[in-house]
Amino acid sequence: MGKAVQMAKIRRGIFEIKVYKDLCKACGLCVAWCPQDVLAEDELGFPVTPGLSQCINCKLCERHCPDFAIEIIPPEEEVIDVHALVYARK
Ligand code: SF4
Ligand code: SF4
Repeated sequence: MGKAVQMAKIRRGIFEIKVYKDLCKACGLCVAWCPQDVLAEDELGFPVTPGLSQCINCKLCERHCPDFAIEIIPPEEEVIDVHALVYARK
């Protein structure tokens, strides 16, 4: 009997963080709310992303920005064979 094929959609890779400097007023709220130390302030107070790989996509930064100046962009969705993925790791 052939194996059952279970397909699933996943997102692999790191999230992209876009700061729209024309909207950002360098208030530091996004940096203060980030629970993962992803964000820090540059010399002018604008957010930068030294800890990008630690982003957990909680969107606290996005939700607390009063100026809609920061956006979290997830990686592309990928369709994968779950069975093949599980057994490839054994
Ligand atoms: S989504 Fe969450 S973890 Fe990622 S940068 Fe924003 S606040 Fe930090
Ligand atoms: S919360 Fe918004 S306006 Fe304030 S520093 Fe972050 S991106 Fe800029």
